[in-house]
Amino acid sequence: MLIYGAGGHAKVIISCFNANGEFVKAIFDDDLSKTELSEIAVAGNYDPELFHDEPLIIAIGNNKIRRTIAQKIWHQFGIAVHPTAIADKSAVIGEGTVVLQGSILQADTVIGRHVIINTRVIVEHECKIADFVHLAPGVTLCGNVNIGENTLIGAGSIVVPNISIGSNCLIAAGSVITHNIPDGAIVRGNPGRIIKVKENSIIENKIWLSSPHQSGSEMKYILEAFDTNWLAPIGPNIDLFEKELGTYTNCDHVAALSSGTAALHLALIMLDVKRDDIVLCQSLTFAASANPITYLGAKPVFIDSEINTWNICPDALEEALKYYTRKGKKPKAVIGVHLYGIPCQLEEILYLCQKYEIPFVEDAAEALGSTYKGKKLGSWGDMGVLSFNGNKVITTSGGGALLSNNESFITKARFLATQARDNAAHYEHSQIGYNYRLSNVCAGIGRGQLEVIEKRVKQRRANFEFYKERLQNLPGLSFQNELPESFSNRWLTAMSIDPSLSDGVNREQIRIHLQQQNIESRPVWKPMHMQPVFKNTPYFGGRMAENIFENGLCLPSGSNLSTQDLSRICDSIEAGFNKS
Ligand SMILES: *Cc1c(COP(=O)(O)O)cnc(C)c1O
Repeated sequence: MLIYGAGGHAKVIISCFNANGEFVKAIFDDDLSKTELSEIAVAGNYDPELFHDEPLIIAIGNNKIRRTIAQKIWHQFGIAVHPTAIADKSAVIGEGTVVLQGSILQADTVIGRHVIINTRVIVEHECKIADFVHLAPGVTLCGNVNIGENTLIGAGSIVVPNISIGSNCLIAAGSVITHNIPDGAIVRGNPGRIIKVKENSIIENKIWLSSPHQSGSEMKYILEAFDTNWLAPIGPNIDLFEKELGTYTNCDHVAALSSGTAALHLALIMLDVKRDDIVLCQSLTFAASANPITYLGAKPVFIDSEINTWNICPDALEEALKYYTRKGKKPKAVIGVHLYGIPCQLEEILYLCQKYEIPFVEDAAEALGSTYKGKKLGSWGDMGVLSFNGNKVITTSGGGALLSNNESFITKARFLATQARDNAAHYEHSQIGYNYRLSNVCAGIGRGQLEVIEKRVKQRRANFEFYKERLQNLPGLSFQNELPESFSNRWLTAMSIDPSLSDGVNREQIRIHLQQQNIESRPVWKPMHMQPVFKNTPYFGGRMAENIFENGLCLPSGSNLSTQDLSRICDSIEAGFNKS
């Protein structure tokens, strides 16, 4: 067992461990002046490497600090129940929670994560206690009491049956609670009276659209890079990251690069795209899909989306292919995107590319872990592009990769990405090169992240299922579709609100409502043919991409969202619908 925090509360937890015959291997504390506690040496700052496999308990009584630490570190958390405590076998206890001497958890109680059930607390049947709550010594909760996140119930307080106490509340010692208590209330006395409702407690933690999610093993590979002094754009992490990506995507050749944008740029160079060449590109996408066309002086032509996957529309694509073929200006490439992880209609698109003999560049920047007909995205096109930007399914803190089953593409891409240095002792160049290689340190992050990709895809798909379950019956609301034989990583859950069916509710109202609740959401990508920078660029199709942009919203989708976060987001969306 490991302990984080070397104060008074830690002493109690050490005693709890000892009573269970468990041994404390290390105590961490940010205060480096602390050297010893209960005759155990304090090891200094938290170190993910030290006893990595030992479960950890955060022994800090302050709910806010305990929460901040729990959200910052990734570690397997333990549960400590003192042998003199009695927990009914139907009681559920979350990770990081401690139940101290003499406490009783009755039938069907549900205790969240990192909760402190202090000495001699009584939790009666069917009570529900959310994460990061602290019940001080001697608290009595009668049957069927609900307590929200972060709330502190002071020593000796009593809560009568069937009461709900909100989140972020502070109940003074010795209070008797006989009425429901709203979020953020400070309460004292018998019967408990609300003295004040904290303003800022209503503003809850920010929920991000998609924030980086550490696996815990990144540091191992980063430290290897430091220990071996491979702080360079070459080294073992890069070689192994490429190999591991190849194995995962079942693609023979992979070049790890400094960004997905660099990978797209190199892909177009491989296909000999030059000044004034035509490149067809999905309009509804992030600008990085299209920008590299212009780096080469070539001319982008944008293609509409279809309604199911929101990706490149086969009909509009064929129209463009026919048009340019007839004009004798055969396009040099087609760039298709798997928006938000949803596979595009690959079969139709690849059929058209073969028919017109035009290479397909697969922008799978958002789609690592998605599959089509059981085969990973990124491996279908003549070349595939991945991104490891900070908000993607996995990250290297910034990076990308080019994939292909054609070895010569990848060998050449690596050569150009390292300044196109010819084979000579001095620096000899017969071509223009680029500095596009991934650093060996960042590749280490990628290796740690790739280890858990399947877990991350599962978590993101679970987010989508949660949203679908809760929101699908709201009027006019629909989600981006996964077609048969497609499997999406659900990088972002994207929904659309049809204002003609939603009683006047529109996308922007919901986005702003979420923002006011400190929840980040984002309109769907604005199509490239609507962007000022691509004014007067040719476009094929109708108004599908424009409609999706008008009505589409991406919801928070990080693999690190908790069930509470997801509930809060859904509550807020429902409230947004009711408000209008
Ligand atoms: C993120 C992204 C890119 C660019 O990747 P970077 O690594 O950020 O350069 C390209 N295309 C799409 C669709 C993306 O979402």
